[in-house]
Amino acid sequence: MTARTSDIEKAAGVLRAGGLVALPTETVYGLGANAEDPAAVARIFQVKGRPPAHPLIVHIGGAEQLDGWVQDVPQAARLLAEHFWPGPLTLVMRRGSRVPLEATGGLETVAVRVPDHPVALALLSAFGGGVTAPSANRFGAVSPVTAGHVRAELGDAVDFVLDGGPCEVGVESTIVDVTGDVPCILRPGGVTREDLEAVLGHPIAVPSTSRVRVPGQHASHYAPRARVVLVEPEKVVVEAELAQELGHQVGVFLPPSFVGAAVKAHAVVAVPGSMAAYARGLYGFLRELDQQGCDLIVASLPAEEGLGLAIANRLRRAAGPRPTV
Ligand code: AMP
Ligand code: MG
Repeated sequence: MTARTSDIEKAAGVLRAGGLVALPTETVYGLGANAEDPAAVARIFQVKGRPPAHPLIVHIGGAEQLDGWVQDVPQAARLLAEHFWPGPLTLVMRRGSRVPLEATGGLETVAVRVPDHPVALALLSAFGGGVTAPSANRFGAVSPVTAGHVRAELGDAVDFVLDGGPCEVGVESTIVDVTGDVPCILRPGGVTREDLEAVLGHPIAVPSTSRVRVPGQHASHYAPRARVVLVEPEKVVVEAELAQELGHQVGVFLPPSFVGAAVKAHAVVAVPGSMAAYARGLYGFLRELDQQGCDLIVASLPAEEGLGLAIANRLRRAAGPRPTV
């Protein structure tokens, strides 16, 4: 943790005054506002360029603070919160009276989580309320995993940036809807499906990435400037070299089995063999290839198990059809 106590106090003051604070979490950096201040919440949407119907996550300091933020806590939510909070798990429950509709995109449900980061927890404790925070990037772009990423992308649009070092998990939280008869995953993330199933004692459904299931889960998201194409792992080198020959500036996500291979491309990222390391590095790799001037990124999907499920979800959406402007 690099932020000092005086920084935490200052950030809490900014939140109380209706300002925006970028805060570190274990997943990615968030763009935070006082969850109970509709004008501050509205500024988040404005700064991000995020459509107002995309609901935000409310961050609180602990499961014992759920009162007022949600109407009731289903048994499955209690169980999951007990096991995974603080941690990269977001629970969707019925909206409590403290949550303005601006934060939920007009929905009667709300997404809540307790982040597992000393700086985020210190801020929540000093502030005393809930903090709504989406990732601190422009809508649709790659999420920030360092304070430097936030400053580079949002600059003066954010009132204060709390630096808590690089994010440990590197991909967003897993979102689980517990409002129905059986919990279901709305977005895979830092807590694995396997770990959820072990705690719940039954299988849990995972979304198809081919259609929008909830607001905010659009086909193109987490996208670098360069176009991303996904191919089978054994075709990565061939496809990358072909595209480079055709005149593209190609960035390659080289699968672990090819590491060390010479590739005729503009830039090469060696994909880590460990899924935890891959998740931690993913958004940094995408930013790096953009910075090196790549216009095309050739990658493949990891096996969709453990953290590989979240990584594959982000890569698919980074490769998703871009909105036509
Ligand atoms: P992020 O965009 O990373 O801030 O994550 C927020 C995401 O949480 C949104 O894009 C939605 O997909 C999801 N979410 C938030 N609130 C709800 C809700 N009430 N119901 C369903 N999904 C939600
Ligand atoms: Mg985001």
